[in-house]
Amino acid sequence: MNISIIAHDGKKPEMVAFLLNNKKLLDTVNLFATGTTGGHVEKANLKVTKLLSGPHGGDAQIAAMAAEGKMDAVIFFRDPLAKHPHEPDVQMLMRICDVHNIPLATNPATAEAVLKGLLE
Ligand code: PGA
Repeated sequence: MNISIIAHDGKKPEMVAFLLNNKKLLDTVNLFATGTTGGHVEKANLKVTKLLSGPHGGDAQIAAMAAEGKMDAVIFFRDPLAKHPHEPDVQMLMRICDVHNIPLATNPATAEAVLKGLLE
């Protein structure tokens, strides 16, 4: 099971709390993350494949894997209160998930439901 996790800067504290609360389940999957998010994942003692930082193309890398059928779910803690230089990539990733019917969670409550739905 390949699952990606991305968190915008304003959502990184929530993302870390999510990792710690769901460590048992997350330990059983192959995790991928954008660069800075991935650093937090490692600090939470989880194994992760780190891709490029979001603004440098990490979201696009995850979208490419999703389009190729290599991603089972995407956890994307977007910050709806901030502007992002890579907004086109953010929209593109969400669109690709919808095109390919890939579970996409954009907040911790949904992410937990998706994880449990897929893994329990
Ligand atoms: P980051 O990227 O994990 O490298 O901060 C996240 C994003 O803003 O897409």
